[in-house]
Amino acid sequence: MDGANLSEYLLSLGYEVHGIMRRHSTSESQDIRIADLPVKTYYGDLMDTGGLERLLKEIQPDEIYNLAAQSHVRVSFEVPQFTAQVNSIGVLNILEAYRTACPQAKFYQASSSEMFGSSVDADGFQRETTPMLPVSPYGCAKLMAYHMVRTYRASYGLHATNGILFNHSGYRRGLAFVEQKICHAAVRIKLGLQDSLELGNLSAYRDIGNSKDYVRAMHLMLQQPEPGDWVVSTGTTISIADIVRYVYRQLDIDVPVSITDHNKRPQELNYLKGDSSRIRALGWQPEYTTEQTLDEMIEHWMRVYGALDEKTPYLQTR
Ligand code: GDP
Repeated sequence: MDGANLSEYLLSLGYEVHGIMRRHSTSESQDIRIADLPVKTYYGDLMDTGGLERLLKEIQPDEIYNLAAQSHVRVSFEVPQFTAQVNSIGVLNILEAYRTACPQAKFYQASSSEMFGSSVDADGFQRETTPMLPVSPYGCAKLMAYHMVRTYRASYGLHATNGILFNHSGYRRGLAFVEQKICHAAVRIKLGLQDSLELGNLSAYRDIGNSKDYVRAMHLMLQQPEPGDWVVSTGTTISIADIVRYVYRQLDIDVPVSITDHNKRPQELNYLKGDSSRIRALGWQPEYTTEQTLDEMIEHWMRVYGALDEKTPYLQTR
């Protein structure tokens, strides 16, 4: 999602965009979210150090955005070692390739609010100075990568930056993430294609922004004279139960949610709300509220399922 939205944004600014993608067995779906964008793609993998170094030598990029990861928190409990390989060692691999092949470039690392874990400041926000106490293999792995970026910055004078992004979403979001799962299921329920919604936990709170806003923040960070670490968030928080209520209300449906064990995590991160004052001081602010992002996703699924034609703006017809 972020790769596609960032590519779109950089192309709109006149950039030439090169993208690395993993090979998987359904080759027709691996670049589906950038298929209509003029991005030059290469096969690569964060585990393939030689390939990374060769590509960076060849391309000589001005800016590198590392968005690659095993990106699902619950799945990180099922594949903790793989998650640590990709999300920690993989980042170390690309930092080494960057340092060797193109140290004049600027580097962005997709760090995560999941690194805060159970930690929250007394005023109810997480910010750059909040202690980080991750509660998942994903969060632990991201935290090591975060520190590697800081270490490479300080040790080698690299322009290496961490964006500490809170949850962000939009129509390109994968279906395994909760707000997209809810919007997709609710539209299908509305259209009579499905009759229930299964979730793992309704009481967690998340600060949910829009990926299109957040890729602008990534780019802005790399335009700064000095590298650093910046929180990107909306500054609002919503419970999973309230996301369900909002989406149901928008679609005028009401079916009970069933709670199933396979959607639960062994340990939950209960509460996220980010203070993004530092990046706002650089001129960034989000254009979308959480509710507008949910509306974007509802509208997307209504179009996909043919309940809206290409031209009808859903939000005005409701
Ligand atoms: P995360 O914040 O990166 O873990 O993003 P997710 O969208 O995967 O999860 C956000 C929150 O929704 C977490 O607190 C989950 O436990 C909660 N949640 C509740 N039910 C579900 C579900 O069925 N799928 C997912 N992915 N999350 C769920």
